[in-house]
Amino acid sequence: MDHPLRAPLEIEFDYTRSLGPVLSEFMTALAARRILGARGADGRVHAPPFEYDPVSSEPPGQLTEVGPEGTVVSWSWMPEPLEGQPLAGPFAWALIRLDGADTAMLHAVDAGSAAAMRTGLRVRARWAASRVGSIRDLECFEPCDAPAASTGDDASTAGAVTGTITPVRLSYMHTASPGESAYLRGLADRRLLGQRCGVCGQVYVPPRGTCPADGVPTQEEVELPDTGTVTTFCVVNVGYPGQRALGLTPPYVAAAVLLDGADIAFQHLILGCEPGEVRMGLRVRAVWADSGISHFAPTGEPDAAYETYARHM
Ligand SMILES: [Zn+2]
Repeated sequence: MDHPLRAPLEIEFDYTRSLGPVLSEFMTALAARRILGARGADGRVHAPPFEYDPVSSEPPGQLTEVGPEGTVVSWSWMPEPLEGQPLAGPFAWALIRLDGADTAMLHAVDAGSAAAMRTGLRVRARWAASRVGSIRDLECFEPCDAPAASTGDDASTAGAVTGTITPVRLSYMHTASPGESAYLRGLADRRLLGQRCGVCGQVYVPPRGTCPADGVPTQEEVELPDTGTVTTFCVVNVGYPGQRALGLTPPYVAAAVLLDGADIAFQHLILGCEPGEVRMGLRVRAVWADSGISHFAPTGEPDAAYETYARHM
C-alpha cells in the first residue's frame, strides 16, 4: 500500500466582535495609556475589569484606574516566541497584580532572560508608540529597574473603541487516511475513487475508510464518473480574506454534488452559469484543473428527477 499523504494546512480568519460597555471603556482607556479595573461588591478591584460582578452578578459601576506598575505573582518563560506573540525575542508570560488591583492580569514581561524573572518582581507598563484601543496598546511590561525604552513617536488614533478584531490562525500537519490518500492520488490522475461498503453496498466518495452505518472497514475501491446532480446548494454572498485569490467573486454557488453512482454528496463549487440558474436536480460535470477539480458546471442535460436523489441529501 502507498504511504499516506501529508501536507501542511493553515486555517485562519479574523474574529470580529463588539466589546460591550465595560471592555469598550477598558480598551478606549488603553489608547490613552490608562489601565482600568472594576471594584466588586466585596470591595476587591479586578483588573482587567469584570463585565458582571462575580459576587453580585451586577455590572460594575464607575471603573477605577490601576497601575501602571505592578508585581509579578506567577510566570512562565517563553524561550522561542511564536509568530504573532507580543514580543519577537524570548519573554515571560506573567500574571501581574497591578498596583491598586486585587486580581492579576496575564501579559508579557520583557525581562531579557529567565534569570531576571522572579515572583515578586516589580514591573511597569510599556506602551506601544501607536495606539488604537486594543490590548496590544499595552506592548508588554518591563522590570521597574530597567531603563525606560524610548517610544519615539507617540500617538493615539483611537476614538471611542466599541469592537475588536482577533486574528485566529491554526497551522497543522494533516495526514490523510489511506482511503483519502488514494482519493487524492486519483484526483491527480483525473479519476474519482470511492469505496463501497461490503455490508450495505453504499458508495462513499471521498472514502471515509469505514461505513458509518455498519462500522466496518470499506475496502472495495469504486471509480466514479465525473458527472453528478446538485442535491442542495447555497449562494455565497459574503466576502472573506483570500476569496479573490481563489478566483471567486460573490455571488457564487457552493453545492452538495451527488456523483452518479455515489450514495453521499460532497461539497463543491458550481460555476459556469448564473447563481440564479442553479437548482436542485441540476446536472453537472467536473471541470478539471492541474490540482484536481476546479469546479462543476452544468452539462445541459434535463434535470434529474427528485426521486433519484431524495434519499441522498
Ligand atoms: Zn455499510
